[in-house]
Amino acid sequence: MSNSPLVAGSQPDPSSPSDVDELRARLARASAAADAAGLDALVVTPGHDLTYLCGYRALPLERLTALVIRPGSDPLMIVPELERPAAEASPVGGLRLEIRTWQETEDPCRLVAASVPTASRIAVDDRMWARTAFALRDAIPQAEWVTAGDVIADLRLRKTAVEVLALQAAGAAIDAVHAQVAGLLRPGRTEREVGGDIADLILASGHSQVDFVIVAGGENGASPHHEVSDRVLQVGDPVVVDIGGTMPSGYCSDSTRTYSIGEPSPAFLTAYAALQDAQAAAVAHARPGVTCESVDAAARNVLTEAGLGEAFVHRTGHGIGLETHEEPYIVSGNTRVLEPGMAFSIEPGFYLQGQFGARIEDIVVCAEDGVVNCNNRPRGLAIVEV
Ligand code: ZN
Ligand code: ZN
Ligand code: ZN
Repeated sequence: MSNSPLVAGSQPDPSSPSDVDELRARLARASAAADAAGLDALVVTPGHDLTYLCGYRALPLERLTALVIRPGSDPLMIVPELERPAAEASPVGGLRLEIRTWQETEDPCRLVAASVPTASRIAVDDRMWARTAFALRDAIPQAEWVTAGDVIADLRLRKTAVEVLALQAAGAAIDAVHAQVAGLLRPGRTEREVGGDIADLILASGHSQVDFVIVAGGENGASPHHEVSDRVLQVGDPVVVDIGGTMPSGYCSDSTRTYSIGEPSPAFLTAYAALQDAQAAAVAHARPGVTCESVDAAARNVLTEAGLGEAFVHRTGHGIGLETHEEPYIVSGNTRVLEPGMAFSIEPGFYLQGQFGARIEDIVVCAEDGVVNCNNRPRGLAIVEV
């Protein structure tokens, strides 16, 4: 990143101007959403919501750092004096947000109270530490305190163009890992050995963090959230490989492909063909105007017709962005209507205890007409020659 004219003096450049514009727009949308929800203030402490709103990946320290969004007034950051340099070096500096600091012997909750003197209804981010939330409530007892809930989630689930590009880059990076997985799956190796190699590849492919590595061979594939074990891979094993990481952008990848070490059983091949149809049906169905639960049904109906309905034991997908699992959830009962920019997984599977399992997972982003796929590796069963 180059020097930004928006940053005063010799501060390290926190972000490009376009990032600043993006973050300004997010803060403006959050302020409008808070206003529409009848909130006088929205208080956000370190975590993904804070990163989303102002780009500051603050450490979750015991000393209070908080973004205070006030409809009708400018947002403001309250930070410990010791953390001021970190806050100014973050995009908060480029945004030129007002920063108020507190000294070691001060009560930071009084600073929050002074920043919203007439507030009668205040929301806190859903994952604020309970200790902080209760201390704030004690400092401003006349206000009604609620959790932010949908006020922030509804912003985060509609991805902007910048976010869609970040998710596509994450998808390309995890695809590059899957492209090398077949070469790691040799009979005689353990799931753990293969998983270690995959973790290295996740970092080598451009991720800054490994979030999870699932290598589930044979009967272990029947457990959707199996990670790795010392089970030795054998000829004839189907192997479910579900992997993901976080990119330097902060956005996450998550993709599953199912491999087979040599030829699998005919029963597995028949079931896998139905799974591939189910996944394709859900991807074809997803578009603006349809409900989340209808995308789940599109996949589930195909598996049910194939006699595998009972074996599809989880929802069809989850939203993804700064977190691997976020809104919207693609699950029966969720009547939310899809809109352009919503990003989520489509990952049906089947799980037969004591035998095997399989899953195919892509991240898709709702476009104007249908979805854009972030994962583009072949979805057919990848048979490893032995
Ligand atoms: Zn999961
Ligand atoms: Zn996954
Ligand atoms: Zn997933």
